[in-house]
Amino acid sequence: MSGSVSRMPDPCRQADTPLVHSVIALTEILEQRWQRYRSHGDFDLFVEFTVSLNGLTERLRRRQMPGLVRSCQELENAALALFGDPSAHPVPLDQANAIERKFAQLLDELRRHDAPALPARRLSDEIGETDDGTTARPRSILIVAPGDHAWVTSLQAQLAFFGFTIQIVDWSEQPCATTAPLAILFVPERPGAAYLPAEISFIMALRTHYPTSSFYCLAVPENLQSIVLLQRAGADACIPVESGISDILSRMLDLICQDEQEADRVLVVEDSATASAHVRRSLTQHGIDSLAIADPRKLLEAAASYRPDAILMDMYMPFCSGVEATAALRQVADYHALPVIYLSSETDIVQQVEALRLGGDQFLTKPVNPVVLAAVVKTKIARYREMRHSGQHDSLTRLLNHSTSKMRIGQMVADSSPHGRLIVAMIDIDRFKSINDNYGHPLGDKVIRSLAWLLRGRLRSTDLIGRYGGEEFIVALPDTDINGALEQLDRIREDFAVLPHAHPDGPLYATFSCGIASLDDFPSASTLIGGADAALLAAKRRGRNRVLPAAADWTASSVAGMQMEEAAGSLL
Ligand code: GH3
Ligand code: MG
Ligand code: MG
Ligand code: MG
Repeated sequence: MSGSVSRMPDPCRQADTPLVHSVIALTEILEQRWQRYRSHGDFDLFVEFTVSLNGLTERLRRRQMPGLVRSCQELENAALALFGDPSAHPVPLDQANAIERKFAQLLDELRRHDAPALPARRLSDEIGETDDGTTARPRSILIVAPGDHAWVTSLQAQLAFFGFTIQIVDWSEQPCATTAPLAILFVPERPGAAYLPAEISFIMALRTHYPTSSFYCLAVPENLQSIVLLQRAGADACIPVESGISDILSRMLDLICQDEQEADRVLVVEDSATASAHVRRSLTQHGIDSLAIADPRKLLEAAASYRPDAILMDMYMPFCSGVEATAALRQVADYHALPVIYLSSETDIVQQVEALRLGGDQFLTKPVNPVVLAAVVKTKIARYREMRHSGQHDSLTRLLNHSTSKMRIGQMVADSSPHGRLIVAMIDIDRFKSINDNYGHPLGDKVIRSLAWLLRGRLRSTDLIGRYGGEEFIVALPDTDINGALEQLDRIREDFAVLPHAHPDGPLYATFSCGIASLDDFPSASTLIGGADAALLAAKRRGRNRVLPAAADWTASSVAGMQMEEAAGSLL
């Protein structure tokens, strides 16, 4: 099997797109495993059940369903606490019954929120519709607040402006939403003081009712006791009292812009087919994708095509050792930070330290406990992804940065079908220098951030939005024609022009100009971006505060000529 590359089908991933299928398939597996444990009482069956629970938690986490993740984790922890040693199984009846009750509650919550939630999770976007329904999240927010709160009215207005639908209820009312809102914001009776016991009970009751929503408690005092009590009641985030509306807005936009995370991917480099199958089985059960190679000479090719988030590396293989293979991998810039976890029966501490020194991140001794293996892999991957994320995003707006936007548009063009539609738009704030000069750089930054938020709030989660330069943005809209894009961007332009930017001397207003180009007329990523840029110049030349399409007959050389003239300062 030397050098062979094999992919293991993951039974839990077959119908990965619709939430219902994958989660229901997993719960069925779980139910069968639990029943088998109840009838046989074997320790191994109990381990299998616990491991599948972890797989379900992972799936729910990727779907951004915090309440269900929490319930699932509680059950998992209760099961882990009963692990003991094999002779402790079957566990006493009362303990098994306690697990079964928790399990039944979880299944109940899942069934209640899975199937009916699916259609609601589709967003009927203004430009076209996403067909897969996977990345779109509902943009509804429930605010629980004391009646007649001026601050809440202002929060409501701002959230509505950025594309959210809002329902406000008093602490004494029962919300009537049948589908779970994206988020629930709690504003306490006494901002900055500990939440009242009645408020905490209310949050707890809503948590069971809406397990898929994200819960934000606002105006929380910075003391550990308050935060712990709210977390226990079901809060996903506690926002301190001094946070402003803009902070809350930014968090809500983060929620809708979070795509469903891709499954973690692990490359297993292991010459023993048995060891490799064992490791991959554990990974699969934890919802982690894997690819195995038996020959370390295939490592660079496999890493380039599979793009793993971590590597599990055997220490002893034919041709070279795991340490040598890791050192070679680190020669390639793209893999400097890729986590490498050694798997070995090596117990010699000197060898282990040497292996880590030469480029590995962690050492696990075989046979590895599957729960520990998955926990190590997941934490390493989470850190690695965070690091990669910050390298691809701009810190002021949290949009994609210049180089990542360009690279992703290149991928969108390469992945588009022969008659696929794609629009690229370039947006630049008008006379921005004068905003900076008259009101100061910090206010300029706020204007940039507001436009970023408006774009995030109004465009679909399948659209790409990047900060291309200082006050310049790039947008790519798949499955959209030029007229649809014109209409949508023009509406955003009109709304931005009336968006007040607060200043002590009174609000100020800004406008932007925008140029758009279609893949129909500009068949490569670079000409598409060039076409949109040339149309932006034309929009500036015609007086700014407008959206213009690139003319289909602009050639690459005429676009380049226009850009050169602009650079020479002769057009404006
Ligand atoms: P035009 O309508 O032609 O676009 O005029 P403009 O004044 O916007 O011209 P230009 O695009 O050349 O000006 C961009 C200015 O944006 C120059 C730079 O000082 C400022 N800028 C760039 N990045 C930032 C930033 O991150 N924050 C702030 N506040 N200003 C920035
Ligand atoms: Mg080996
Ligand atoms: Mg400008
Ligand atoms: Mg500019």
